[in-house]
Amino acid sequence: MNRTKRVKTLKKLIVGTVIALIILPTILCVILFVYSRRLQQQIYILTDRVAVAEEGRDDPAEQYETMQDTYRQEIDELTSKISDLENELTSLRDLEKNEPASETKTSWPKKVYLTFDDGPSGHTQDILDILDSYGVKGNFFVCATQNEDYQKFYRKILDEGHMLGIHSYTHVYEDIYASEEAFREDVLAIRSFVNEQTGGYNATYYRFPGGSTNLHARISIQSCAEWLTEQGLVYYDWNISSQDAVNPMQSKESIVRNATFGCENYEEVVVLMHDLGNKDTTVEALPEIIEYYQNLGAVISVIDENSMRVQHDQ
Ligand SMILES: [Zn+2]
Repeated sequence: MNRTKRVKTLKKLIVGTVIALIILPTILCVILFVYSRRLQQQIYILTDRVAVAEEGRDDPAEQYETMQDTYRQEIDELTSKISDLENELTSLRDLEKNEPASETKTSWPKKVYLTFDDGPSGHTQDILDILDSYGVKGNFFVCATQNEDYQKFYRKILDEGHMLGIHSYTHVYEDIYASEEAFREDVLAIRSFVNEQTGGYNATYYRFPGGSTNLHARISIQSCAEWLTEQGLVYYDWNISSQDAVNPMQSKESIVRNATFGCENYEEVVVLMHDLGNKDTTVEALPEIIEYYQNLGAVISVIDENSMRVQHDQ
């Protein structure tokens, strides 16, 4: 009996062992399989995340190249726009050339007299240099400078072929126009001063301080003018003012504009400017003024007996 029991127990043990040996690995396999699937899924997710992160990361070199491309495109667009505008400009110029220009536009002004009052000054040499560089002559209506450095310019203006006219000895309106006698004294004083400085030059042309219609004058300009004629002096006003003495410092642009504005209305233009140490912008504007008139074909020269008399009361 005992033996039978033992055999049975042994059988159960064997069967149990066999079952355990078969089932356990199967279960383990299933568990491992599921686990490996999960791991694989996680790997996929992580790989995907890495890829996304890498794609999104800013690569400086790549970014620079992208910017370069954008700029290149913009430059190309602008270049093509510029070339379009240039073509348009060329065709407009062609049109202008073919258009019959009006008589006054092409022929007036014929002559231009650039006049510089109140010098000589620290700018006289600059003005002479500019006139020389354009091969043109100017007209200087001078005062009596006590600055010895500037006194050489009276002679120099003459020697370089410019017109040396007289303006005033003192340039103080209240004194000059106080009486006819005072006026005469001032004119004679500047005339003899210039004569002395130049070694004998007698000026022919005169400009009233403030012009012949100077409101400060309490005397008859008409009788002054008659006396000037008796003295062999011809006075000149201007028909275009650069307005360079209106403000302490006019801009270069406004001087150029004023010195050329309306010039087509005159056959001969007398431009008023100033040769004074503080008139820097007049010097700066001068080349453009000369170029403007040269482009119109006008002759820029000195006032002489053939020049049209530009006098305000005429
Ligand atoms: Zn003056």
